[in-house]
Amino acid sequence: MNSEKIKNSLNISPAIRVGVLGFGGLGQAAAKVVAGKREMILVAAADQKGYAYATEGLNTEKSVATYQAQGSVGYLEPIGTLTNQSIQDLIEIAEVDGYFLALPNLPNDFIPNVAKEFIKSGWRGVLVDAIKRTTAVEQLLAMREELEAAGITYMTGCGATPGLLTAAAALAAQSYAEIHQVEITFGVGIANWEAYRATVREDIGHMPGYTVETARAMTDAEVEALLDKTNGVLTLKNMEHADDVMLEVAGIVGRDRVTVGGVVDTRNPKKPLSTNVKVTGRTFEGKISTHTFTLGDETSMAANVCGPAFGYLKAGRQLHQRGIYGIFTAAEIMPQFVR
Ligand code: NAD
Repeated sequence: MNSEKIKNSLNISPAIRVGVLGFGGLGQAAAKVVAGKREMILVAAADQKGYAYATEGLNTEKSVATYQAQGSVGYLEPIGTLTNQSIQDLIEIAEVDGYFLALPNLPNDFIPNVAKEFIKSGWRGVLVDAIKRTTAVEQLLAMREELEAAGITYMTGCGATPGLLTAAAALAAQSYAEIHQVEITFGVGIANWEAYRATVREDIGHMPGYTVETARAMTDAEVEALLDKTNGVLTLKNMEHADDVMLEVAGIVGRDRVTVGGVVDTRNPKKPLSTNVKVTGRTFEGKISTHTFTLGDETSMAANVCGPAFGYLKAGRQLHQRGIYGIFTAAEIMPQFVR
């Protein structure tokens, strides 16, 4: 094939129809990311109070504006529907190739339960999450056979951390005969915590004296009072983060050798520190060394979560089309760049 023909054949392959479940900070950013892609089209979005669905694609600006003004994409005229079971309704009516689950994982089995709904419904396609906790990923990994039998290709832990940084660690490990340590340190800067309520609540759940449940039960006023005490900054150490189980399952390093921590500034979009992953190991010649992969400070959390999520959705779609179902983590599969 000449290059013109290759281009044509690329252009005529139909765009992947994607849906975004959860239309908060990450869900809205995800819609904006897809708007710039020709290989994907956003046909569905859902939040707690409703959904919007259009086979010809959603208007991103209108969807975001409606959500921000009225609290739900269900108010979008004429394609929105108000319902308190938006995910179940969408599963039933929408033709979607793959969903990005930008949902809060509160409680800790919320996303695993959404996966069960998909399995029960008979829906077939690709699901991608950016879930964070080790125990949540473990629940999903335990569903491998059910997902396989259902014809679902589930990509888990495909945000930034876990996600991009876990994948970078898996790649960096290739230089070594033995891996000694994987150390992930993230810096997140957001202008206000309300834009990412679930992310901030889930982070509070990692602080000493808090759990997922206590963080979930906190009112917005209580979250604000806590942030007032820390000047808007959350410092997190030795987090229960699924990068560990993902690198272990991929056969790279035992989970006890993986640490994750970070600093989240909820009052300043500037990152408090540069997000990085350090991978230390021994080469076949016996040298001990460390590879460091550092994200550009200008890249936001949203860019580093949503980019990989759709890269893994595209990779998952290719697996699905080849009849490969079940569950895969960001440490096992290379994301595909979405044009
Ligand atoms: P958010 O609080 O801003 O938004 C959550 C959205 O989910 C809202 O639109 C809400 O209406 C919707 N929702 C809640 N319950 C629902 C239901 N039952 N049905 C349909 N929609 C429902 O959340 P966020 O801050 O954007 O975070 C989303 C997720 O992304 C969190 O779980 C967070 O941990 C995860 N995250 C992952 C990474 C990573 O690197 N892996 C980084 C940041 C955030």
